[in-house]
Amino acid sequence: MSRTIISVKDLVKNYGSFNAVKSISFDVMEGEIFGLLGPNGAGKSTTLEIIETLRSKTSGEIMVDGINLDKNPSAIKNIIGVQLQTSGFYPGLNLVELIHLFGGLYNQKVDPIALLKKVNLEEKAKSKSKELSGGQRQRFSIATTLINKPKIIFLDEPTTGLDPQARRNLWDLIREIRAQGTTIIITTHYMDEAEQLCDRIAIMDKGSIIKLDSPDKMIDELVNSGFERPKQTKAANLEDVFIHLTGHQMRDE
Ligand code: ADP
Repeated sequence: MSRTIISVKDLVKNYGSFNAVKSISFDVMEGEIFGLLGPNGAGKSTTLEIIETLRSKTSGEIMVDGINLDKNPSAIKNIIGVQLQTSGFYPGLNLVELIHLFGGLYNQKVDPIALLKKVNLEEKAKSKSKELSGGQRQRFSIATTLINKPKIIFLDEPTTGLDPQARRNLWDLIREIRAQGTTIIITTHYMDEAEQLCDRIAIMDKGSIIKLDSPDKMIDELVNSGFERPKQTKAANLEDVFIHLTGHQMRDE
């Protein structure tokens, strides 16, 4: 792991008298997949949106690739990719037209087919967004984060509502994007997703980070503390059966 690309120090966010984020600090390293894991209401989206410059903070200091968020938020916007709300995908436009539209918003020339290829949607180039399955829509949404060739992308619960195959396809896609050098911050409330995908995880609860480490180390630490699962689980679970029977290949077409 190389250098710190995001540094969050003593971040606080109050909504009126409600203290949603309670002085959290963490660093994200360049090239890692960093997870914010926690139950609903933990403060994950608030934290992400503050770093994305989309929401104001109450206090604290945030640096993104050496840029101070208070001093130059627009410079940060230029180097990050944020998932656009799928509701903003005009239903009457096809994917190529949408990419041109979003490229215009970012003032970027984009090759729509090359971008669609990256997310395995080139065959859907002429389809309208309303004609996509849930998994395809999420892949397209991830493609939109890449339009401005960002150094860092932010994914807010990207697999919520997807079936197991579509989720695994999306995990593969996220790993591929990281392999090309992009740092990824992801929020999730799925434990298996965090364990499979993230190099390091910050577990958030009620506005605080209660643990930050790699999934492996967290599990080892718990095991070394004498913890034992009450009952030995089987060597496979129902999801394994499902994937085994229906195949791992792209099926959310
Ligand atoms: P998470 O993403 O972990 O589910 P959020 O960051 O969305 O958590 O929310 C953290 C807490 O802040 C929740 O209790 C939520 O109700 C509250 N909250 C989020 N946005 C607002 C807002 N705009 N106004 C008031 N409270 C908010």
